[in-house]
Amino acid sequence: MPKVVSRSAVSASTDAHPTASSAAALRVYYCLCGEFILVIDKSLSSLPRRQTDNAIIVRSQDSNDQKARVFKLNAKYADPILLERKDGHERQYRFNCPRCTLLIGYQHTPPPAKSSPFIYILSGALTQMQGQLPQDAFDGENN
Ligand SMILES: [Zn+2]
Repeated sequence: MPKVVSRSAVSASTDAHPTASSAAALRVYYCLCGEFILVIDKSLSSLPRRQTDNAIIVRSQDSNDQKARVFKLNAKYADPILLERKDGHERQYRFNCPRCTLLIGYQHTPPPAKSSPFIYILSGALTQMQGQLPQDAFDGENN
């Protein structure tokens, strides 16, 4: 049996400072390698998804009728790439796990995360259970 050591048990403190009212509902997500990546006020599975690539949409700026999600992202940005889409080109500023460099998600404007109206988290990139694969880890493998 591989031994899974929970690092959160060792260090209970975090540098995220959510408001008291949202603290109770915060969810923590990890990379498949176990690295802490995201803390957010809503479950990723309940957020809307993009039709193009099924990525999870996280609102990072308030709009007229919708509030931004409260979140903190621990990721490293890479150089932007240009994708061909049916209706034109799409520039993606991608971010990766700081430990294993697995691709986590992207946004359409330069970092930081909250300078963009939305960030997108790839389907199956993150898990709530440290050391366990998410159910949808292999979804869309043939795309
Ligand atoms: Zn990782």
